[in-house]
This record gives sequence, structure tokens and C-alpha cells, in this order.
Amino acid sequence: MIPAIIVHGGAWDIPPELHADHRAGCRAAAEAGWIVLATGGSALDAVEAAVRVMEDHPVFDAGRGSHLNRDGVVELDAGMMDGRTLMAGAVACVKRIANPISLARRVLHDSEHVFLVGEGAERFAEEAGIPLCDPAELIVERERLLWEARRRTNDERRTEFGRRSSDTVGAVAMDAAGNLAVGNSTGGTSFKHPGRVGDTPIIGCGLYADNTMGAAACTGWGEQIMKAVLAKTTVDQIALLRSATDAANVAIAYFEHRIGGRGGVICISPAGQVAWAFSTPHLAYAYRTADMPEVVAEVGVRAIARERRE
Ligand code: ASP
Repeated sequence: MIPAIIVHGGAWDIPPELHADHRAGCRAAAEAGWIVLATGGSALDAVEAAVRVMEDHPVFDAGRGSHLNRDGVVELDAGMMDGRTLMAGAVACVKRIANPISLARRVLHDSEHVFLVGEGAERFAEEAGIPLCDPAELIVERERLLWEARRRTNDERRTEFGRRSSDTVGAVAMDAAGNLAVGNSTGGTSFKHPGRVGDTPIIGCGLYADNTMGAAACTGWGEQIMKAVLAKTTVDQIALLRSATDAANVAIAYFEHRIGGRGGVICISPAGQVAWAFSTPHLAYAYRTADMPEVVAEVGVRAIARERRE
């Protein structure tokens, strides 16, 4: 039932002591997006508002509070897509942008290109009047200490995703006019190689929206999600199965069984059905549809996809 919004705050083995913060952060984001939708705002406005709340919340791996890369620097990626026009905008490897989702949106509206990276993306931000921040402002003590510990042990081995933190954020919304939009924002994986980009900002991999088919946002192990083109795979399944829940389950089952994929997806069908599924121990998410009196926020326990029907 429209309008509708669902947000995610990462898929991994979220320790119990962090569950309350994840629920609260996801709830605040979904509420911010809901207010936009309930007052006649667009799905794009709602997604941007919701993602900005989570970028500003230090518990998430997005905006301030993100993981540091091997050089001890925060490098951020974000993307947005408009299901009405299929216009998309994305940025990656930006170091001086506090809210990369808003920069991705400016790329969507104001650039002839879809994807800008690094210094060029920051130059576009300056041209668009988006202020550049001091990179130090994006670093929180928790992440600095984690980075110090990892550097001390000189641990460059790959760790299985899902045992480490990863709290990428994203949102999918449908507005009262029936338009879909999606957005994602992340600091990527911890101790990543400088210049590494995961699925999060990549159209079709981390996010996809088409009013005629559905919209989806992914989180999890980016190197795997890219191989499975997971967001578009989910949207294709929505179009085929005409059920957001079945589509989320089928996409995650394929992802898991084909490549041992670890991650999660949130999605909305063209009928306004909201769903999620994941193959990690937990997925943090929150959602609200028109028939609900308030936002529901949860840290879900693995492999259960649920839905809100009209
Ligand atoms: N997908 C993100 C990445 O690989 C991580 C995450 O979703 O938590 O950069």
C-alpha cells in the first residue's frame, strides 16, 4: 500500500550490544523518509532524507563513522536511481563529502554523466555548491582504534565478510504518485585497498529502480554482489514473479547458492509491496507502508523474508 518506504542499515553478524543503535538509526531514517512521503514529497526526496539520517549517525558505515581504508582514510561511495525516468547518479572514492547521497543526487539531476569518482567528483561537488568537509571530520574514535589495531597486527588477510562489521545504508521508497526511487551510501569494507569500490554505488549491482518492474537496494559483500548483479536480479524477479517477497527470496537464494553470497536486499514492487531477504546472520532494517500506524524497525535474524501486503 502506498506510499511505502524501507531502509537498511547493513547485513552482517551484528553484535547484540549494537542492535539497539541499529534499530534506532534505521527507525529515525525511515521516519524521516516517511514524513517526506506523507506530506506529498517525492520518492527521491524521501530516499535522500532517509539516507542522510543514517550518514549522519555514527553507528553506520556511511558518512561520518565509516570504516577507514588501509591508508587510514575514509573513502565514500553512494548512488541514487529514479524509477520514473531511469535517471541515475553515483559517486565513489570521495574523501571530503559529509553526505555523498546528496552529491549522487546532484549527479543524477545536473550531470550529463552517471558516475563520477575521486577528485573529479569532489570538483563537481564544488561546482554544484556542495561544501567540502575536512576528511578528519568523517573519522570517529571507534574506527580509528579499529584501524590502529588492524595495522598493528599488519593483518592484510582477507576475512570472511559478515564476521566483520559492515553497516552500509540504503533506502527504497514509493511515493503517493506511485514513483519508485532507491539510494545507497557506504564507507565500504574496513581496511580496504585505497580506490576499492564495492557494489553500493553501482547501478544494477547495489541498487536499481524502474517504476514498471520494482526497486531494490543491496548490502553485504560487495565483491560478490557485483558478480550477481544482485539489485537488477531482484528487480527482474519482482517483474517475473509479481511478488516482492518471492523475488527477494529467489535472488538471495541464487546469490547464496551460486557463489556463497553474503548479503541482503530490500525491495518494493510496483504494487507497493515491501520485502527483504538476507543470507548473513543479521540485517538491520525499518519500514512503513500506508496501512501501518508507525515505523517497524528490526535487526532481523537470518534467512527469513517477510512482507507487508496491501
Ligand atoms: N556492500 C558494501 C561494500 O562492499 C558493504 C556493505 O554493504 O556493508 O562496499
